[in-house]
Amino acid sequence: MDFSELLDGLNDKQREAVAAPIGNYLVLAGAGSGKTRVLTHRIAWLIGVENVPEGNIMAVTFTNKAAAEMRHRIESTLAEQRLFGMWVGTFHSIANRLLRAHHLDVDLPQDFQILDADDQLRLIKRLMKLHQFDEKAFPPKQACWYINNKKDEGLRPHHLDAGDDRQEREWIRIYQIYQDACNRAGLVDFAELLLRAYELWLKKPVILARYQQRFQHILVDEFQDTNKIQYDWIRLLAGDTGNVMIVGDDDQSIYGWRGAKIENIQQFLRDYPKAQTIRLEQNYRSTNNILNSANQLISNNHNRLGKDLWTQDGAGEPVGIYAAFNELDEALFVSSQINIWLEDGGKLDDCAVLYRSNSQSRVLEEALIRANIPYRIYGGMRFFERQEIKDALAYLRLIANRQDDAAFERVINTPPRGIGDRTLDILRNLTRERQVTLWQATQIAIHENLLAGRASTALLRFRELINSLQQETEEMPLFAQTDFVIKHSGLYEMYQQEKGEKGEVRIENLEELVSATREFVKPDEVEDMTDLTAFLTHASLEAGETQASPHQACVEMMTLHAAKGLEFPRVFMVGVEEGIFPSAMSLMEQGRLEEERRLAYVGITRAKKKLTISYAESRRLYGKEERHVASRFISELPKECIQEIRLRGTVTRAYNRAATVNASALLNDDAVWKMGQKVKHEKFGIGTIINVEGVESNTRLQIAFQNQGIKWLIAALAKLEKV
Ligand code: ATP
Ligand code: MG
Repeated sequence: MDFSELLDGLNDKQREAVAAPIGNYLVLAGAGSGKTRVLTHRIAWLIGVENVPEGNIMAVTFTNKAAAEMRHRIESTLAEQRLFGMWVGTFHSIANRLLRAHHLDVDLPQDFQILDADDQLRLIKRLMKLHQFDEKAFPPKQACWYINNKKDEGLRPHHLDAGDDRQEREWIRIYQIYQDACNRAGLVDFAELLLRAYELWLKKPVILARYQQRFQHILVDEFQDTNKIQYDWIRLLAGDTGNVMIVGDDDQSIYGWRGAKIENIQQFLRDYPKAQTIRLEQNYRSTNNILNSANQLISNNHNRLGKDLWTQDGAGEPVGIYAAFNELDEALFVSSQINIWLEDGGKLDDCAVLYRSNSQSRVLEEALIRANIPYRIYGGMRFFERQEIKDALAYLRLIANRQDDAAFERVINTPPRGIGDRTLDILRNLTRERQVTLWQATQIAIHENLLAGRASTALLRFRELINSLQQETEEMPLFAQTDFVIKHSGLYEMYQQEKGEKGEVRIENLEELVSATREFVKPDEVEDMTDLTAFLTHASLEAGETQASPHQACVEMMTLHAAKGLEFPRVFMVGVEEGIFPSAMSLMEQGRLEEERRLAYVGITRAKKKLTISYAESRRLYGKEERHVASRFISELPKECIQEIRLRGTVTRAYNRAATVNASALLNDDAVWKMGQKVKHEKFGIGTIINVEGVESNTRLQIAFQNQGIKWLIAALAKLEKV
């Protein structure tokens, strides 16, 4: 291969970076300017032109997906060459690899287990209880933050001095207790991975020297989101002779809340005074309307390093702004827009839907399912597959059918009620010997005194609980039944006590489940089923069947954080409302608003061809209905680049495709139904039209009734009155 080809398809500035003499570099540039492309080509250049053995290169990316992608891109650039010796990965995966190789040097068993954030919090909780800390004065979640923060700063308990501060002394004690327990059990949390890897360098200069000699070329993508320990680790590894190329964008720093330091960029320039800064200014990703919107938005932040970003691309379509009147309308709007995109020849996997927090996904998921649009949630779990939702559904299933062994197994000891594995084993054996279900086995075990007294009592209580949950909710509408079961099964309380961020999210999701049952409309074909059974069927079908296989073309759904570094021709940013985005929390903490704005900048700059931003004037989230106003970020966009999408426009477009219709007649005629119109139905009462399909005598209306859920009705037959 002629390696000068590596420079084809690059602009002058990019070439300068890719073909720069070996040394230290900062590539500082805005979104979509080719930073990641430069990094990839630089690696290929080092191998192909500078003859650097690939084993001498380490590349750090922000996600594992990005690591795989980079490896793949370099391999294809170099044609057949396989990259065996090169280390490419996230800080965590590289630290993990290092620690496994040198576990003795850092006092870890080779098969040490990694604790995720959830496990970590559970362990801390348990230890704090064991050591009788008052959870009110010392919330476990705060202990978690404390410990992780100290680790991110490279600090062990013995580095810390509380002085006269009693509170601080206690935090340090918790840190110590937790660390001792982890060490005994061979457990390593995420922050610990990085800290141990750093300590390896400090403790074992010989090992450090070996790696310094090996990794003479270090490249780091998304550098603006490195924290202190990550920076120090790189700094030590590079020493004074290593060659480091960092690429980043201060405007895309979105992990400050997790300890990332934008200042690391300046620190790098202080530590490597000879480092050259290369700025890329041409954006290759987005149209002018999208790029100008992003530029204008981010100009509202202060203390930026400052960058110019322009594109040769045309203006493109204006950025669409859609004011939905509620979250269902917003979701339907997104699904109908995706359909229009497809009809226009667009591809499914070119679309991405981005939101601020995972709990916003449910309504969107349901709309996509209804519209038969396959989707994949990237970096998150589908709503009905989440642990807490499955727990709640298992209770409901057991109420509907005592013989559901899977549901039984799931909730028999959730929340914990002292029914251990031994008891369960006896029950499981009984099911085999007597050919009965677990529920029946409990009865046998109790009657025949096969269990210890305590276990027997616990089982009896469990049976009573399930029976009474059924009796007490028999007459209730489905949503009230669901709510009652969540609250009285002990699930709600259990997750409420799990105080960390995860616990809060789980509670929000449980409340979302109640909203889901409230909105659920039993399809006609299952008229005979109880509402509960119909809903459970719906949930399990949704959880299983519509899950797209990894290779199937899908709409990608993800949080804005997860979207960093990615790009899509067609992007929807939803829920862009004050209190959601920027989040309510961010309005209370200094500096957080600017981080939210950077997150908005990240979101906007994911779009290549077409971007639509939407917000809902009223939103039911976490079980509550709230009025919202459009996010300030929308008002910060340049007027000439945006276009409000009015209902009239959307309805007209959808109609034109469905049938021949005279849109203006439709919109002027009194008999015409518009989305958002309040109506009254003889039997169902007051509702709001949330969707209109078909024309003239075929017009079908989807109406959200205040007390009867959502229904599709044929306009000509429904005898609706406008109110
Ligand atoms: P982000 O800040 O979002 O991570 P980035 O700066 O890393 O963005 P890339 O993802 O490397 O940008 O590039 C953005 C897009 O522009 C990619 O599709 C890339 O292939 C394309 N691109 C980059 N440089 C050029 C070029 N010189 N000519 C044509 N396309 C380019
Ligand atoms: Mg990038």
